[in-house]
Amino acid sequence: EEMDVDTIWMDGEFVPWDEAQIHVLTHGLHYGTGVFEGARCYDTADGPALFRWEEHIERLFQSAKPYEMEIDHDLEELTEATTELIERQDLASCYVRPIAFYGYESLGVSPGDCPTRTAIAVWPWGAYLGEEALEEGIEVMVSSWRKHASSQIPTNAKTTGLYVNSMLAGEEARRNGYAEAIVLNKEGNVAEGPGENLFLVRDDTIYTPGLSESILDGITRDSVIEIARELGYTVSDTASLSRGELNTADELFFTGSAAEVTPIRKVDNVVIGEGTRGPVTEEIQQRFFEIVEGEAEGYDDWFTYV
Ligand code: PMP
Repeated sequence: EEMDVDTIWMDGEFVPWDEAQIHVLTHGLHYGTGVFEGARCYDTADGPALFRWEEHIERLFQSAKPYEMEIDHDLEELTEATTELIERQDLASCYVRPIAFYGYESLGVSPGDCPTRTAIAVWPWGAYLGEEALEEGIEVMVSSWRKHASSQIPTNAKTTGLYVNSMLAGEEARRNGYAEAIVLNKEGNVAEGPGENLFLVRDDTIYTPGLSESILDGITRDSVIEIARELGYTVSDTASLSRGELNTADELFFTGSAAEVTPIRKVDNVVIGEGTRGPVTEEIQQRFFEIVEGEAEGYDDWFTYV
């Protein structure tokens, strides 16, 4: 994939894209022992700005904890690295991918003396599920795969190894002609998408699975909860949603740093609402884009200007 950028930040230095390489015996490659983030920089009215950057970096450090991974760079250094990458490459809006992982030293499952490597890449990335998806909504499939239970692997950490589950679910859906999957948790309740949180609207009330449903504590989820409440909606963010409730929803939508606010118009064979983007989804989506594009007052706390 041509990303149209030439520099990556790696372990404290800016390196040419082609030289940002690692050894094939990297621990993280063999055992999935990496943690990462996905954030966006938006071209706001006041210039390029990272959206809820501090929350993303905070989550990166939190994700590393159970793996006893020491990231040798603090928020300030990671922020400087990222803003410089964006500036140097003249980007106005882009996706930002920080990653930390156990590097090469020994190949026991115990990371032993493996160094923690850290890298950040930025590149232009449009709508994750396509521009049309934002307007028309997408068709999704309830996956035959289940989410890990958090008694098996921390599901509230953004660990690289977790995403083999996301890949299985997403690719199964796409093989079957759907754009994305909805993944149930081990109990059979609705958890989230492979890389998105899920929201359900019914009778003008908004529901999203609670944090104990094996979901990632999504930063867009948090933003949307706040936005919806400000718009006057009642939001339940501790919901336990059965599969059947998907079918009777008035509206469904996904949220994510990559997916932003993406309407869902069909789940398996069931048309949701009118089979188009619903009015509540549209209102929240519109407000979300107004905010991230810096056109709304009162959200300065959510931006780190480049
Ligand atoms: N769930 C999963 C499994 C994800 O990978 C993501 C994307 N980071 C999300 C939810 C959405 O989280 P956020 O809004 O923080 O991007």
